[in-house]
Amino acid sequence: MAETARTQAQSHAHQRAHGGEAPVGGARTVRLSKRYGTGDTAVRALEEVTVAFPPGRFTAIMGPSGAGKSTLMHCVAGLEAPSSGQVFVGGQELGTLSDRALTRLRRERVGFVFQSFNLLPTLTARDNITLPLTLAGKGPDRERLDTVVRILRLGDRLSHRPAELSGGQRQRVALARALVTRPEIVFADEPTGNLDSRSGSDVLGLLRAAVDDLGQTVAMVTHDPVAAAHADAVVFLADGRVVDLMPEPTAAGVLDRIRELGDRS
Ligand code: ADP
Ligand code: MG
Repeated sequence: MAETARTQAQSHAHQRAHGGEAPVGGARTVRLSKRYGTGDTAVRALEEVTVAFPPGRFTAIMGPSGAGKSTLMHCVAGLEAPSSGQVFVGGQELGTLSDRALTRLRRERVGFVFQSFNLLPTLTARDNITLPLTLAGKGPDRERLDTVVRILRLGDRLSHRPAELSGGQRQRVALARALVTRPEIVFADEPTGNLDSRSGSDVLGLLRAAVDDLGQTVAMVTHDPVAAAHADAVVFLADGRVVDLMPEPTAAGVLDRIRELGDRS
Protein backbone atom coordinates (compact mmCIF):
# COMPACT_ATOMS: atom_id res chain seq x y z
CA MET A 1 0.00 0.00 0.00
CA ALA A 2 2.67 2.48 1.13
CA GLU A 3 4.89 1.13 -1.64
CA THR A 4 2.18 1.75 -4.23
CA ALA A 5 1.62 5.30 -3.00
CA ARG A 6 5.35 5.98 -3.16
CA THR A 7 5.66 4.57 -6.68
CA GLN A 8 2.72 6.69 -7.83
CA ALA A 9 4.23 9.79 -6.24
CA GLN A 10 7.56 9.06 -7.93
CA SER A 11 6.00 8.54 -11.31
CA HIS A 12 3.98 11.75 -10.89
CA ALA A 13 7.18 13.66 -10.05
CA HIS A 14 8.89 11.98 -12.98
CA GLN A 15 6.18 13.07 -15.43
CA ARG A 16 6.27 16.56 -14.03
CA ALA A 17 10.04 16.82 -14.36
CA HIS A 18 9.83 15.80 -18.01
CA GLY A 19 6.53 17.35 -19.02
CA GLY A 20 6.70 20.88 -17.64
CA GLU A 21 8.89 23.75 -16.54
CA ALA A 22 11.09 23.38 -13.45
CA PRO A 23 9.31 24.14 -10.14
CA VAL A 24 9.58 27.74 -8.99
CA GLY A 25 9.18 29.39 -5.61
CA GLY A 26 7.35 27.91 -2.68
CA ALA A 27 6.69 29.33 0.76
CA ARG A 28 6.71 28.19 4.37
CA THR A 29 6.05 29.33 7.90
CA VAL A 30 7.89 28.54 11.11
CA ARG A 31 5.88 28.75 14.35
CA LEU A 32 3.76 31.52 12.88
CA SER A 33 1.35 33.10 15.37
CA LYS A 34 -1.08 35.95 14.78
CA ARG A 35 -3.16 37.71 17.43
CA TYR A 36 -5.72 40.40 16.76
CA GLY A 37 -6.37 42.90 19.54
CA THR A 38 -5.10 42.82 23.11
CA GLY A 39 -6.25 41.78 26.59
CA ASP A 40 -9.63 40.13 27.12
CA THR A 41 -10.78 40.75 23.58
CA ALA A 42 -7.64 39.33 21.90
CA VAL A 43 -8.25 36.71 19.21
CA ARG A 44 -5.59 34.08 18.56
CA ALA A 45 -6.08 33.63 14.83
CA LEU A 46 -2.94 31.48 14.33
CA GLU A 47 -0.99 29.53 16.94
CA GLU A 48 2.53 28.31 16.12
CA VAL A 49 1.70 27.22 12.59
CA THR A 50 4.60 25.50 10.83
CA VAL A 51 3.59 24.58 7.32
CA ALA A 52 5.20 24.32 3.88
CA PHE A 53 3.86 25.08 0.42
CA PRO A 54 6.56 23.19 -1.50
CA PRO A 55 7.82 24.45 -4.88
CA GLY A 56 5.83 23.15 -7.83
CA ARG A 57 3.13 21.66 -5.63
CA PHE A 58 -0.58 22.34 -5.25
CA THR A 59 -1.70 22.57 -1.60
CA ALA A 60 -5.29 22.96 -0.41
CA ILE A 61 -6.09 24.67 2.90
CA MET A 62 -9.29 23.57 4.62
CA GLY A 63 -10.99 24.14 7.95
CA PRO A 64 -14.15 25.58 9.48
CA SER A 65 -15.00 29.26 9.31
CA GLY A 66 -12.77 31.19 11.71
CA ALA A 67 -10.04 28.50 11.64
CA GLY A 68 -7.43 31.00 10.40
CA LYS A 69 -7.28 30.13 6.69
CA SER A 70 -7.45 33.71 5.44
CA THR A 71 -5.08 34.92 8.15
CA LEU A 72 -2.53 32.28 7.12
CA MET A 73 -2.84 33.35 3.50
CA HIS A 74 -2.52 37.04 4.37
CA CYS A 75 0.56 36.47 6.55
CA VAL A 76 2.33 34.35 3.93
CA ALA A 77 1.45 36.90 1.23
CA GLY A 78 2.93 39.73 3.29
CA LEU A 79 -0.46 41.45 3.70
CA GLU A 80 -0.39 41.05 7.51
CA ALA A 81 2.57 41.06 9.87
CA PRO A 82 2.93 38.01 12.15
CA SER A 83 2.73 38.51 15.93
CA SER A 84 5.58 36.01 16.18
CA GLY A 85 7.28 33.38 14.06
CA GLN A 86 8.60 33.53 10.53
CA VAL A 87 7.37 33.48 6.95
CA PHE A 88 9.59 32.59 3.99
CA VAL A 89 8.58 33.22 0.38
CA GLY A 90 10.95 31.68 -2.16
CA GLY A 91 13.62 31.50 0.55
CA GLN A 92 13.25 35.17 1.53
CA GLU A 93 12.23 35.82 5.13
CA LEU A 94 9.54 38.51 5.08
CA GLY A 95 10.37 39.83 8.56
CA THR A 96 13.64 41.24 7.25
CA LEU A 97 12.01 43.30 4.47
CA SER A 98 11.17 47.01 4.54
CA ASP A 99 7.57 48.08 3.86
CA ARG A 100 8.62 49.07 0.38
CA ALA A 101 10.25 45.72 -0.34
CA LEU A 102 7.16 43.95 1.04
CA THR A 103 4.89 45.92 -1.27
CA ARG A 104 7.07 44.91 -4.19
CA LEU A 105 7.10 41.27 -3.14
CA ARG A 106 3.29 41.24 -2.92
CA ARG A 107 2.97 42.79 -6.34
CA GLU A 108 5.63 40.85 -8.20
CA ARG A 109 6.34 37.62 -6.30
CA VAL A 110 2.86 36.60 -5.09
CA GLY A 111 -0.22 35.97 -7.25
CA PHE A 112 -3.81 36.16 -6.00
CA VAL A 113 -7.02 34.67 -7.28
CA PHE A 114 -10.22 35.63 -5.43
CA GLN A 115 -13.72 34.23 -5.34
CA SER A 116 -15.00 37.56 -6.74
CA PHE A 117 -12.37 37.73 -9.56
CA ASN A 118 -11.38 41.36 -8.66
CA LEU A 119 -10.83 42.48 -12.24
CA LEU A 120 -10.83 46.17 -13.16
CA PRO A 121 -14.07 46.71 -15.13
CA THR A 122 -12.72 49.45 -17.41
CA LEU A 123 -9.72 47.44 -18.61
CA THR A 124 -9.70 44.79 -21.32
CA ALA A 125 -8.77 41.23 -20.43
CA ARG A 126 -5.28 41.82 -21.82
CA ASP A 127 -4.76 44.98 -19.75
CA ASN A 128 -6.08 43.23 -16.62
CA ILE A 129 -3.63 40.37 -17.19
CA THR A 130 -0.62 42.65 -17.68
CA LEU A 131 -1.59 45.07 -14.87
CA PRO A 132 0.97 43.69 -12.36
CA LEU A 133 3.70 44.27 -14.96
CA THR A 134 2.37 47.75 -15.79
CA LEU A 135 2.36 48.66 -12.09
CA ALA A 136 5.93 47.40 -11.81
CA GLY A 137 6.90 49.64 -14.74
CA LYS A 138 7.72 46.62 -16.90
CA GLY A 139 6.56 45.67 -20.34
CA PRO A 140 4.95 42.27 -20.73
CA ASP A 141 7.29 39.31 -21.20
CA ARG A 142 5.85 38.32 -24.60
CA GLU A 143 6.69 34.66 -24.38
CA ARG A 144 5.28 34.31 -20.88
CA LEU A 145 2.13 36.22 -21.79
CA ASP A 146 1.62 34.02 -24.86
CA THR A 147 2.14 30.83 -22.83
CA VAL A 148 -0.28 31.88 -20.10
CA VAL A 149 -2.91 33.03 -22.61
CA ARG A 150 -2.60 29.75 -24.53
CA ILE A 151 -2.86 27.52 -21.43
CA LEU A 152 -5.85 29.51 -20.16
CA ARG A 153 -7.50 29.56 -23.62
CA LEU A 154 -7.96 33.34 -23.62
CA GLY A 155 -6.59 34.12 -27.08
CA ASP A 156 -9.95 35.21 -28.52
CA ARG A 157 -11.04 37.13 -25.41
CA LEU A 158 -8.15 39.55 -24.89
CA SER A 159 -9.94 42.66 -26.14
CA HIS A 160 -13.10 42.00 -24.09
CA ARG A 161 -13.90 43.82 -20.86
CA PRO A 162 -14.95 41.82 -17.77
CA ALA A 163 -18.66 42.61 -18.30
CA GLU A 164 -18.41 40.88 -21.68
CA LEU A 165 -16.99 37.69 -20.18
CA SER A 166 -18.62 34.71 -18.42
CA GLY A 167 -17.73 33.94 -14.80
CA GLY A 168 -15.41 31.13 -15.88
CA GLN A 169 -13.68 33.40 -18.41
CA ARG A 170 -13.27 36.13 -15.79
CA GLN A 171 -11.63 33.69 -13.42
CA ARG A 172 -9.33 32.53 -16.22
CA VAL A 173 -8.30 36.18 -16.74
CA ALA A 174 -7.68 36.52 -12.99
CA LEU A 175 -5.57 33.35 -13.05
CA ALA A 176 -3.61 34.65 -16.05
CA ARG A 177 -2.95 37.90 -14.14
CA ALA A 178 -1.72 35.85 -11.16
CA LEU A 179 0.61 33.74 -13.34
CA VAL A 180 2.06 36.34 -15.70
CA THR A 181 4.79 37.47 -13.27
CA ARG A 182 5.98 33.86 -12.57
CA PRO A 183 5.26 34.35 -8.85
CA GLU A 184 6.85 32.33 -6.05
CA ILE A 185 3.36 31.32 -4.97
CA VAL A 186 -0.22 31.76 -6.18
CA PHE A 187 -2.92 32.05 -3.50
CA ALA A 188 -6.43 31.16 -4.55
CA ASP A 189 -9.15 31.95 -1.99
CA GLU A 190 -12.25 29.90 -2.83
CA PRO A 191 -11.56 30.38 -6.57
CA THR A 192 -14.59 28.31 -7.60
CA GLY A 193 -17.00 29.80 -5.03
CA ASN A 194 -18.82 32.00 -7.58
CA LEU A 195 -18.76 29.55 -10.48
CA ASP A 196 -21.13 26.87 -11.74
CA SER A 197 -19.74 23.37 -11.32
CA ARG A 198 -18.55 23.05 -14.91
CA SER A 199 -16.61 26.35 -14.92
CA GLY A 200 -15.40 25.50 -11.43
CA SER A 201 -13.93 22.19 -12.50
CA ASP A 202 -12.37 23.91 -15.53
CA VAL A 203 -10.63 26.45 -13.24
CA LEU A 204 -9.43 23.64 -10.94
CA GLY A 205 -7.97 21.82 -13.94
CA LEU A 206 -6.19 25.03 -14.96
CA LEU A 207 -4.73 25.53 -11.48
CA ARG A 208 -3.50 21.93 -11.76
CA ALA A 209 -1.99 22.77 -15.18
CA ALA A 210 -0.25 25.85 -13.74
CA VAL A 211 1.50 23.48 -11.33
CA ASP A 212 2.20 20.58 -13.72
CA ASP A 213 3.05 22.51 -16.89
CA LEU A 214 4.45 25.82 -15.56
CA GLY A 215 6.00 24.51 -12.33
CA GLN A 216 4.07 27.07 -10.27
CA THR A 217 3.36 26.71 -6.57
CA VAL A 218 -0.33 27.03 -5.66
CA ALA A 219 -2.09 27.27 -2.28
CA MET A 220 -5.89 27.19 -2.43
CA VAL A 221 -8.41 27.80 0.34
CA THR A 222 -11.55 25.76 -0.26
CA HIS A 223 -14.52 24.22 1.52
CA ASP A 224 -15.15 21.77 -1.30
CA PRO A 225 -13.69 18.23 -0.96
CA VAL A 226 -13.89 17.77 -4.74
CA ALA A 227 -11.82 20.93 -5.26
CA ALA A 228 -9.33 19.83 -2.59
CA ALA A 229 -8.87 16.49 -4.37
CA HIS A 230 -7.16 18.37 -7.24
CA ALA A 231 -4.33 19.29 -4.84
CA ASP A 232 -1.20 17.29 -4.01
CA ALA A 233 -1.86 17.67 -0.28
CA VAL A 234 -4.43 19.16 2.09
CA VAL A 235 -3.57 21.17 5.22
CA PHE A 236 -6.41 21.12 7.77
CA LEU A 237 -6.68 24.08 10.15
CA ALA A 238 -8.86 24.38 13.25
CA ASP A 239 -8.75 27.08 15.92
CA GLY A 240 -5.59 28.58 14.43
CA ARG A 241 -3.62 25.33 14.43
CA VAL A 242 -2.64 22.75 11.84
CA VAL A 243 -4.59 19.67 12.91
CA ASP A 244 -3.89 17.36 9.99
CA LEU A 245 -2.02 16.93 6.70
CA MET A 246 -3.33 14.66 3.98
CA PRO A 247 -1.08 13.75 1.03
CA GLU A 248 -2.65 12.63 -2.26
CA PRO A 249 -6.19 13.51 -1.19
CA THR A 250 -9.36 12.01 -2.59
CA ALA A 251 -12.75 13.74 -2.28
CA ALA A 252 -14.11 10.85 -0.17
CA GLY A 253 -11.04 10.87 2.09
CA VAL A 254 -11.26 14.64 2.59
CA LEU A 255 -14.97 14.45 3.38
CA ASP A 256 -14.34 11.71 5.98
CA ARG A 257 -11.59 13.77 7.59
CA ILE A 258 -13.76 16.90 7.75
CA ARG A 259 -16.46 14.85 9.51
CA GLU A 260 -13.96 13.36 11.98
CA LEU A 261 -12.51 16.78 12.78
CA GLY A 262 -16.02 18.19 13.18
CA ASP A 263 -17.00 15.37 15.57
CA ARG A 264 -13.94 16.00 17.72
CA SER A 265 -14.98 19.54 18.66
P1 ADP B 1 -11.10 31.70 8.14
O1 ADP B 1 -10.54 32.35 6.91
O2 ADP B 1 -10.59 30.30 8.35
O3 ADP B 1 -12.59 31.74 8.19
P2 ADP B 1 -9.89 33.95 9.50
O4 ADP B 1 -8.43 33.81 9.24
O5 ADP B 1 -10.64 34.93 8.68
O6 ADP B 1 -10.57 32.51 9.43
O7 ADP B 1 -10.11 34.34 11.03
C1 ADP B 1 -9.48 33.66 12.12
C2 ADP B 1 -9.89 34.33 13.41
O8 ADP B 1 -9.31 35.63 13.47
C3 ADP B 1 -11.39 34.52 13.56
O9 ADP B 1 -11.71 34.36 14.92
C4 ADP B 1 -11.61 35.94 13.11
O10 ADP B 1 -12.75 36.49 13.70
C5 ADP B 1 -10.34 36.62 13.60
N1 ADP B 1 -9.94 37.77 12.75
C6 ADP B 1 -9.59 37.72 11.45
N2 ADP B 1 -9.26 38.95 10.99
C7 ADP B 1 -9.40 39.80 12.04
C8 ADP B 1 -9.19 41.20 12.22
N3 ADP B 1 -8.77 41.99 11.22
N4 ADP B 1 -9.45 41.72 13.45
C9 ADP B 1 -9.87 40.94 14.47
N5 ADP B 1 -10.07 39.61 14.36
C10 ADP B 1 -9.83 39.04 13.17
MG1 MG C 1 -11.53 33.22 5.30
